[in-house]
Amino acid sequence: MDIGFSRYLSKIQGYKSASQKARILTEAWASDNLECPSCGGTLSLLPANSRTSDFQCQSCGETYQLKSQSKPFGKKILGAEYNTTIQAIKNGRHPSLILLQYDLKNLSVQQVRILHRSWITEQSIIPRRPLGPQARRAGWQGCLLALESIPCTAFVDVVQNGSASPPTIVRLQWQTAHSVSTLTLDQRGWVALVLRIVESLPQQFTLQQVYAYEKELAKSYPANQNIRAKIRQQLQIIRDLGLIQFIKPGVYRKIYRSMQ
Ligand SMILES: [Zn+2]
Repeated sequence: MDIGFSRYLSKIQGYKSASQKARILTEAWASDNLECPSCGGTLSLLPANSRTSDFQCQSCGETYQLKSQSKPFGKKILGAEYNTTIQAIKNGRHPSLILLQYDLKNLSVQQVRILHRSWITEQSIIPRRPLGPQARRAGWQGCLLALESIPCTAFVDVVQNGSASPPTIVRLQWQTAHSVSTLTLDQRGWVALVLRIVESLPQQFTLQQVYAYEKELAKSYPANQNIRAKIRQQLQIIRDLGLIQFIKPGVYRKIYRSMQ
């Protein structure tokens, strides 16, 4: 992998908009340098019109959408049209996201993290206010994706501080992130909430420490009367995913390396 993208500069001749230039450069870079984190296959750029994904793996068919910016990714990122996004999530068609941060001065890629599609649930999508009647697309409603609500386990580190991670690590992280795919959408929403809490706790933690977030979890699921039972159920699922170990009644230990 070559993290520089100066060799693509000829592609942006004639373009004026900075965002368009960045788009063309990072797409070209991703096309040539990224491989499918699931199978190592080649990613091909899909035709620009009417696409919901930017790339598709030629071998396994996994789809990816590229989000690139020069600043580090914050707590939230801009999503597409709200209802289309929710429908894509419900139908299991939402692509994984390639979050690419570049350095325009050095014309190089700084960070690439891939967010596995399974962790993009309804709970992570925040609707925006529909555009007013004066707007060109009046009534159009966008959304935000709350990256802060998604556990670290959902992300695959492909490039960190300008250096590429070994493909074996990328594949392993993808497999871990992929392990929730067999769960229903509702289950995944719950697992994400509880895992996010677990990730913030020390290496060894107690059930009581997770129960401390009971009120916060109740806000996400106001209809649920038995949050504690739900918490215990999620901890079992997280244990079955191989991310935590059961030490003794009410005591757990994190075993996945990115969850220190
Ligand atoms: Zn693939």
